[in-house]
Amino acid sequence: MRGVEVVEQRAKSIINAVPGMPFSWSINPYRGCYHQCRFCYARRTHRYLEEDGVERWGSRIFVKVNAPTVVRSELARNRAIDQVAIGTATDPYQPLEGTYRVTRGILEALRDYRVSSGIITRSPLVVRDIDVLQSLAAVAGVSVSISVATMDADLAREIEPTVAPPAQRMRAVRMLAEAGIAVNVALAPILPQLTDRADSIDAVVRAAQEAGATRVWHNALNLHDITRDAFFGYLRERRPELIASYATLYKGTYAPQAVSREIDARVASARERFPARALERIPTRAVVQLSLI
Ligand code: SF4
Repeated sequence: MRGVEVVEQRAKSIINAVPGMPFSWSINPYRGCYHQCRFCYARRTHRYLEEDGVERWGSRIFVKVNAPTVVRSELARNRAIDQVAIGTATDPYQPLEGTYRVTRGILEALRDYRVSSGIITRSPLVVRDIDVLQSLAAVAGVSVSISVATMDADLAREIEPTVAPPAQRMRAVRMLAEAGIAVNVALAPILPQLTDRADSIDAVVRAAQEAGATRVWHNALNLHDITRDAFFGYLRERRPELIASYATLYKGTYAPQAVSREIDARVASARERFPARALERIPTRAVVQLSLI
């Protein structure tokens, strides 16, 4: 991880209430993300630390080293906490997790307090914690979402520069499924004119089915403030021929409704032809969590 500055932090609080979402609480063990996805919507959170969310998002990363301890004390104080999503604004299994094991410590705390949880990540490192996930699934329920925007390894390297190749991520889906963990594939974000063709969508949904995913969910690219700057920077660098059409499509944050509807229809068609595995094969307590994220 050359060129990355790691800043260890002692957080005062970790679990955040999240109104109006399918989950009620969120935990982000890191700030910043080594994966540096060009479309990352979480880049704006660097601004809260007066950091540059375009240039420094992947090169100045904050590690909340005391997170497991703080989670335990917050759970002890508030027994109503449930439906916790881990990794809504960072990747909880980015490479630093291999050393720091902060996410693992948080999962152990959630298991000990029997709190149902969901994880979202692009990293196969999540399989390291299958043992904790199994015990959390047994006492409270857990689901893991692994994001795969495309099965095209070259394109993936272009848009998610330091994430493991899509095939490796699908191997992680398979390992989680075989371990009895409810595992979703997040086909996200879908990028107009880059990953929105029917064959590209089909490839991800088919691979998810073959790997044993319990569900595929998706969303189309949103471009707001810093994400817009980062994504147009990528287009200038790698896809200048798309700048004009993206400027037309994204006059605001969202793609036009007609584009989103077409994407929804393609995903629906793929899901129909390559349905996810039957829920009956998933342990009951985990099934409860399928819609957590
Ligand atoms: S893995 Fe997630 S948090 Fe990290 S850069 Fe990519 S989209 Fe952002």
